[in-house]
This record gives sequence, structure tokens and C-alpha cells, in this order.
Amino acid sequence: DRPYFRKALETHDFVVSDFLVGRQTQKGTILAAYPVSAIDTGEEAVIVAGMNLDWLSDMMSSLAGRVGVNAALIDGEGTVLAAPPDERSLIGKKLDRLSLLPAMAETPQGRGSITMHDDAGRLMTVSRIPGTSARLVVTVDENKVSAGINRDIRTAYLQLALVCLFVLLGALIAAERLIVQPISVLTGVAKKFAEGNWSARVARKRLPSEFVPLARAFNAMAAQLGQRERELVASNSRLTVMASMDLLSGLANRRGLQSRLDFEWMKGQQTGHRLALMMIDVDHFKLFNDSYGHPEGDACLSRIGETLAAVADQTSGFAARYGGEEFCLLLPETGMGRALQVGELVRTAVEQLDLPHRTSAFERVTVSIGVACTLPSEHATPAELIEAADAALYAAKHRGRNNVVEHGFIRASDGPVAMAS
Ligand code: GH3
Ligand code: MG
Ligand code: MG
Repeated sequence: DRPYFRKALETHDFVVSDFLVGRQTQKGTILAAYPVSAIDTGEEAVIVAGMNLDWLSDMMSSLAGRVGVNAALIDGEGTVLAAPPDERSLIGKKLDRLSLLPAMAETPQGRGSITMHDDAGRLMTVSRIPGTSARLVVTVDENKVSAGINRDIRTAYLQLALVCLFVLLGALIAAERLIVQPISVLTGVAKKFAEGNWSARVARKRLPSEFVPLARAFNAMAAQLGQRERELVASNSRLTVMASMDLLSGLANRRGLQSRLDFEWMKGQQTGHRLALMMIDVDHFKLFNDSYGHPEGDACLSRIGETLAAVADQTSGFAARYGGEEFCLLLPETGMGRALQVGELVRTAVEQLDLPHRTSAFERVTVSIGVACTLPSEHATPAELIEAADAALYAAKHRGRNNVVEHGFIRASDGPVAMAS
């Protein structure tokens, strides 16, 4: 009396029943009927096979394994035949969903599937299983599926952000090593150059290969500038020496005397030693020039220079040409007595040169000498010592020339030595 059985007899074709409860087993099942008359028209027998719903349910669970996806097999009346494990309790019960009805109506025999939203807002696809009244219902919970996708997207973004962070960190470290560090090495060396340390060099081993040509150029530049500076210093000191030299006499010039006098003055102040200065002037030199010519006058000055240099050498003095035919001899650590002796030494040495001077009363070249002596102190100046020697020289000229006069004192007993006031 089962409808499926009767239908198999009527149609002579394979029929699958809706859900029913077995009369003997009292368990829910579906049965397949195949009338023998489909092959042999004379036979009224029907082959009936019960189907294992658990097996169908297992198929459902493998179908609905993904998050948010659910699948169930229902019969033509809407009774659940198979469902995934968590919904097994629904098996044998009717799905009381109004929303299912249009889908059931629109999927008659032979038509494919229909997709719609169910009452819970889920996407539902109802597909008819060909040759049966059963339908496969698959629901997709968009929220759950998209939540999974959203989580995957979030994870992907997070991974991307981490990768970007690592790449940035790597770039930063690489930039520090490849660019910032070499530039700071070069800057450090440039600073040393600015401080005048031309011996500083960039250590090429510490630099990436791209910076090596720059470092080489840097070092070459430093070597060249260092060399130029040394040359400059050398030529400067040559110029300084030349600026203090008198070429005619080979002695120091007035400028050389001035700086030496300043130095000896300072030294005398520190040591408490006296300092003597003599001013030496060639007598009637204008007449000498007139008589023998200027070149001969130059030669005479040169000879007197040599003589003075020799005396300075003997007496640890410092000889200079003060200007024109005037010379100076500076005697450090010397008192007046010794200075007068040296003055006399100079006077006789020039006299003994025996350079003829026909327009002089002495008939040879002679010099007059003024001597001054003082204890250097902060109450006096080197210029005053020069003035005193000059005054003594003036007195020597006044007293008849070819003599030595000390400043402010008469030494009549010593012959040619006289007084300057
Ligand atoms: P006094 O005994 O009073 O010193 O007489 P003087 O003729 O030596 O003094 P004056 O100051 O009148 O003349 C100095 C002369 O020295 C004048 C100048 O032509 C000469 N003279 C100065 N410098 C040089 C020089 O470098 N070479 C030569 N040949 N003569 C010079
Ligand atoms: Mg003179
Ligand atoms: Mg003179």
C-alpha cells in the first residue's frame, strides 16, 4: 500500500520513495523499487532495496564541511533524509520552512536548481535529484563565509604590513651602512682638514666600493694641499728671513735688528742682565763716494759688514746694518765697560782694514761709535736705548770722529773715547 510501490507498478520504472518508517524495523528509511516488469512484462514482482540514511548523512557532512555551508537531503514532502552530524536530529522531521515551498514548487521533475535567500537571510540552493522527488538543499551563511574571508584578508594585510615593516627596516639598515656611515666618515676627515690636519686620511677599507673613488680623490686632495701648505710655510719663512736681511753687507737689516732687540730686551728683563747697543757710522762717507764713486762705496760698506760680522761672532753680539752707512752691534749680557772695549775693537778693526780715503783727515776709512747700555725694564723701551746710542754717536762725531763715546760719561784717559750728553 505504499505510494512508491504502487507508482513502480504503474510506471514500470525505477522509483525512490519519500521518507518513511519501516514497518518491521521502526526506523526511518527510504526505499528504492524496481519492478521486474520493466524487463520482463509478464512479471509482477518488484525489487525493493532499503537505503542506509547514515551513509547519505556522511555524504552530507563531507559536502557541508566548510564554515557557513550546510547541506541536507529532503524528500518530496520536505522530510529530512540526510543531514550533517550536528543536525542529525532533524532526520525524519519535516522542514517547516515556508521559504522552501516556492523552491519546491519551482523545481519540478527535470528542472535544475533554484537559488534564493531563506528566512534567516542565508543563500539557499535547492536542486532536484533527477529521477527522484528528493532535493538537495545547500545553505550558505554569507556572514559566516565572509567572516572567514574577512579574517583571511585581515591576516593577509597583517602579513603584508609585517613584510613591509621588515623591508623598511632592512632598507633603513642598508641605507645606514651604505650611505650614512660613509658620509659621516668623510665628514669626520673633512673636519680634520678644516682644523689644518692634512695628515688625516679616509680609511678605504671601511667604505662600500661605491665610495672608494671619492675617498681616493679626497686623500689625493689632502696630500696635495698638505704639500702646498708645506711649500707655503717654507717660502713664507724664506721671505721672513729675506725681509730681515741686508744683501749688501750680509748682515741683518733694521727690521731684523728691531725684532732681535725686542727679544733681547725681554730676555734681559727676565735674567736681570744688562744690554749694550753701539751705533757705528762711517766717517765722511759722502766724501768717500764723491772721491771713489758709489760702487766703490758699496764695496767699502760690504767690507765693514764683514768686519762687524767677525767681531759679533767673537763677542756673541748681533750685528746689523741700520741704514745707509750706519751699523749697529747689539751685545746681550754686557755692561758698559765691556761694551766700550768691544767698541774700540770695532773701531780699530775698521781702521786696520786700511781702506784709503783721500778726502778724510785720517786718510783711510774710519768709523765713529756711540755706545749705550741699560738694564732692560718695563720702565724703559728698546727705542730709548737706540736713541741713547745715537746721541753718543752724535757726540763722537762732534768730538772729531774715529772714536768711541759712551752715553752720558767722559773717559778722557782712554784717548779717543769721549762723552755724549
Ligand atoms: P759724517 O762723518 O758726518 O757721517 O759724514 P757723512 O758724509 O758720512 O754723512 P752724510 O750723512 O752727510 O752722508 C752719508 C752718505 O752715505 C751719503 C750717501 O750717499 C752715502 N750712502 C748712504 N747709503 C749708501 C749706500 O748704500 N751706498 C753708497 N755707496 N753710499 C751710501
Ligand atoms: Mg750717517
Ligand atoms: Mg757717516
